[in-house]
Amino acid sequence: MALIQYLTRIQFQAGAISLLADELKLLGVSRPMIVTDRGIVAAGLLATVLARSGIGQDTPVFDGTPENPTEAAAQDAVALFKASGCDSIVAIGGGSPIDLAKAVSLLASHPGPLEQYAVILGGMDLITANKPPVIAVPTTAGTGSEVGRAALLTLEDGRKLGFISPHMIPSVAICDPDLTIGLPPYLTAATGMDAVTHCIETFLSPRFNPVADAIALDGLARAAKWIEPATRDGADATARHEMMLAALQGGLTFQKGLGAVHSLSHPLGGLKALRLHHGTLNAVLLPAVLRYNAPGSQEKYARIRVALNLSEDADIADEMAALAQRLGLPARLGEMGVTPDCFEQISQYAVKDHSTASNPRPVGAPDFLKILEDSL
Ligand SMILES: [Zn+2]
Repeated sequence: MALIQYLTRIQFQAGAISLLADELKLLGVSRPMIVTDRGIVAAGLLATVLARSGIGQDTPVFDGTPENPTEAAAQDAVALFKASGCDSIVAIGGGSPIDLAKAVSLLASHPGPLEQYAVILGGMDLITANKPPVIAVPTTAGTGSEVGRAALLTLEDGRKLGFISPHMIPSVAICDPDLTIGLPPYLTAATGMDAVTHCIETFLSPRFNPVADAIALDGLARAAKWIEPATRDGADATARHEMMLAALQGGLTFQKGLGAVHSLSHPLGGLKALRLHHGTLNAVLLPAVLRYNAPGSQEKYARIRVALNLSEDADIADEMAALAQRLGLPARLGEMGVTPDCFEQISQYAVKDHSTASNPRPVGAPDFLKILEDSL
């Protein structure tokens, strides 16, 4: 038996941000708080959204989202939400503000501490529908968080945990590719490789969901075709449209679960001193994980080769490494400043990560250690 749900309300088109005020009205809310980050404000995107969406210029704004969202930032945002009498949250940005907004909605309506809602601590059933709605407005094409059930947050002790529930899915996703036009080449490439990784890992997940598989392969083909044009020419509206769609497709398949790339990129992203970019980490880890997963996945690898338009004997891991190189992304963890002294602990965290259970090949701490060493 399979439970297949698609999934939430999505407005997808260039210029879709003009629908924000109407979508709030449909949800029956009138006092949103915006959750974003300072990069979005500095890039002028907050001003763009306010101007094009028709919501009030006096809308409260929390712009203190860190690169990797933290429990502390969520609590600060909840304080503003309550002090301002808000009834809903509009998340504007990449995966970090969207994840933070999901946590704000949770903490604004559910008693603390946050840790008890973590999926690996059995918290999924504690999360109810009785939460203020979140409207997600992605400004990158990669995370898929706009339709995802998960929020990833780093707790005070450094653990990066997943908070997962159908009730964490934003009530509406407004996907407006025009909002990604100014995204710099490096971030276009790095977030795009996150979308590529989502499509590959969810497709390889052994959980039965052929509908999601089809979406993942279509998203993978789309991302592989358009990630380089979008990175080369950020003003290419077609490339932006296609990459935002590929990222959305990656997010629409999260319900199958991810795999070992994400098991490792989650705790690596929690390393406070380094502040590593999630998509870049995935691009670096993907080749070694694809080599690890190859035994037993050959049938699916053949279908991935078709989606990528590769010859029958092409090595997918090599192809992904070559793609990352053409995009100007680092090839090794060492180039990102990672040193092997953290590997033991990262491997332990990875074993406990919620993505590990859906990796196609069983993976334990020694395997994670080997993948990290191969990626160094
Ligand atoms: Zn990801």
